[in-house]
Amino acid sequence: MRYLSTRGKAPPVTFTDVLLKGLAPDGGLYLPEQWPTFDINDLQKRSGSKPTYESVAGEIIWPFVEGAFSRKELDDLIERAYATFTSQRIVPTKNFTENLWLAELFHGPTLAFKDIALQLVGQFFDHQLEKSSERITIVGATSGDTGSAAIEACRDRDAMDIIILHPHGKTSEVQRRQMTTVQASNVHNIAIEGNFDDCQNLVKAMFQDVEFNRAINISAVNSINWARVMAQLVYYWWTAMEVAGTRQVSFCVPSGNFGNVFAGYGAHLTGLPVHKFIVASNTNDVLDRFFTTGRMEAQAVAPTLSPSMDIQISSNFERLLFETLDRDGVEVESKFEEFRNEGFLAVDQLTLTQLKTKWASSRVNDDETLTTIASIYEETGELIDPHTAVGVAAAKQNIEDPNIPIICLATAHPSKFPEAVHAATGIKPELPPHLANLHQREEVFSVLPNNLEDVKEFILGKARR
Ligand SMILES: *Cc1c(COP(=O)(O)O)cnc(C)c1O
Repeated sequence: MRYLSTRGKAPPVTFTDVLLKGLAPDGGLYLPEQWPTFDINDLQKRSGSKPTYESVAGEIIWPFVEGAFSRKELDDLIERAYATFTSQRIVPTKNFTENLWLAELFHGPTLAFKDIALQLVGQFFDHQLEKSSERITIVGATSGDTGSAAIEACRDRDAMDIIILHPHGKTSEVQRRQMTTVQASNVHNIAIEGNFDDCQNLVKAMFQDVEFNRAINISAVNSINWARVMAQLVYYWWTAMEVAGTRQVSFCVPSGNFGNVFAGYGAHLTGLPVHKFIVASNTNDVLDRFFTTGRMEAQAVAPTLSPSMDIQISSNFERLLFETLDRDGVEVESKFEEFRNEGFLAVDQLTLTQLKTKWASSRVNDDETLTTIASIYEETGELIDPHTAVGVAAAKQNIEDPNIPIICLATAHPSKFPEAVHAATGIKPELPPHLANLHQREEVFSVLPNNLEDVKEFILGKARR
């Protein structure tokens, strides 16, 4: 399988290149040259009489990576990646009310869905670097959950250093501690005096700096990295098969950078029968406004109870735009040019109408988030985190046909955001045993201004070369 850039100018590359590079040299994001297709019956057959998450993952991922690993190597890396999960089924599903289902994506080491992709990507990186005797410096921006998941995936690995930028004071206590209390010599945390978009812009600027890039052999783990999106395709197939067999389902996805829900769309493009994708936004509603009006316009970021969605520039949206514009990279480039110059980009009415046949959206504010946590707890006894609650509220607003199950992605464990859960229910959800003493652990991080030169200098001082 070869990979294309969404901006159409970079030459096609292999999976190995895509894995270690993230962003394409023309500023675009990578996508497979063509989507392989799967059939549920066939997939079920080939995954064995009682399919496991790992066996389904092997089947789905194989065509995307063929050539980079042997099938046996792939299966081993998948086994190792998910050995760290506390649920045997990796992503368990449960029916919690009417036709709504929860897909619990939070059984990995850092209690958010990002572990599912990053535990595997960490294994891929390690394997690849060992083969090539290279070393890399992973630089990433996080609004909270990516950072800790990436750090857990890369800690203590000889061939990698990892540097994570987070917005100073704008992540939750648990999120920050999950990053800053990791005692590993290859892990470095920077708190930027700015918001998540500032962090992301700094990272983007470093990737475009050829000299700096070469000096530290930079690599990405942001959700722009194709390998992460690819790993996430698996749980869309897996949960749909669990919940509905071969029948259609809808998915409701609490969205920020648009990586998670785009993976769902990727699963659909590989043959998964999906009725609708419901995009759930908090009050940082750039995505909801786009799916309502066809116009994407960033506004100032406002902090909410669901901080991992406090984003106004959804990087992975570019992948959907590329597919929607019939893979015309020149057109994608000109849309983003418009976005840079005018502050917005727009699709025409016909395109919007077509998009609406597959996409729905809702905007959910903090009050509705809290009410949803409370009412789900009262009705079902289930504690959900504020991100999941944004999704559940959006799902309830978008029930079209009670016969089509809606799978709500539960993107974080409630104990990761205890303040909101407590405010809604009066109950303080407890951290699982492996994190029970998180609040007693020592923190290490450096605070830096929102300034590219300062950040580069810091990284040059830390990266082993
Ligand atoms: C990252 C994250 C999201 C947003 O996912 P995207 O892929 O950025 O759209 C939602 N919920 C939680 C808990 C997250 O960590």
